[in-house]
Amino acid sequence: MQYRAEGIVIRSMDYGEGNKIVNILTRTNGKVGIIIRGAKKTKSRHGSLAQLFTYGEFLYFRNSGLGTLTHGEIIESHHLLRERLELAAYASYVAELTDRALQEDESSGFIFEQLKACFTAYGEGKDAEIITQLYEMRILEATGYGPVFDACSSCGNVVGSMSLSVRSGGVLCSKCGYKDPFALPLGDGALKLLRLFRTMDLRRLGSIQVKEETKGELKRAMRLLVDGNLGLTLKSRSFLDQMDKFPL
Ligand SMILES: [Zn+2]
Repeated sequence: MQYRAEGIVIRSMDYGEGNKIVNILTRTNGKVGIIIRGAKKTKSRHGSLAQLFTYGEFLYFRNSGLGTLTHGEIIESHHLLRERLELAAYASYVAELTDRALQEDESSGFIFEQLKACFTAYGEGKDAEIITQLYEMRILEATGYGPVFDACSSCGNVVGSMSLSVRSGGVLCSKCGYKDPFALPLGDGALKLLRLFRTMDLRRLGSIQVKEETKGELKRAMRLLVDGNLGLTLKSRSFLDQMDKFPL
């Protein structure tokens, strides 16, 4: 069958002599793997469509398994995300996370829009760390791990300090905190922002100012949620961590 879909390249691999296989997250057909024949040849019309982060329209033939590209057009190449090391590190992480966390053919209209908005926001120079955390929250929701921050997940208490607990799927109040020895205490600022992250659509992200101290907390919180729920080992994340240790 012939398909036409808008998609974003979230993985690109060499395949055989001069070909590439890309995984794209599409607006309408979920995550799809497509062979792009001759993509590595210099005269290839479709070479740039095979590049990581490219947003384009893909026409492909597919019965089951991998599709084969028949035609395509670039809508936005996102070259800045490949050229600037810091942006490349964040975008690679987000792409790999999407590729690994989502199932093939899973319906993806909303998450596609969020990924598209995420890449746009990187390109606009917004805070890459915050954008990434917002997107991580979208992935947690899409995979059924959206945490509950409104009230203690054990007793429903809404007042007092809270700690983040993967095991309980959200936060625990000070009375219930003992139920999860791995719970991470959250300051007021971090809790407020996590609640905001839970409802914020990346397409509506304005400028957001976060104190360095709160940023550190947010980072630990999102790590706990992503690692504790998804349990993925991502190559791109070790690169991000290295960059953190040796800022550019
Ligand atoms: Zn409680």
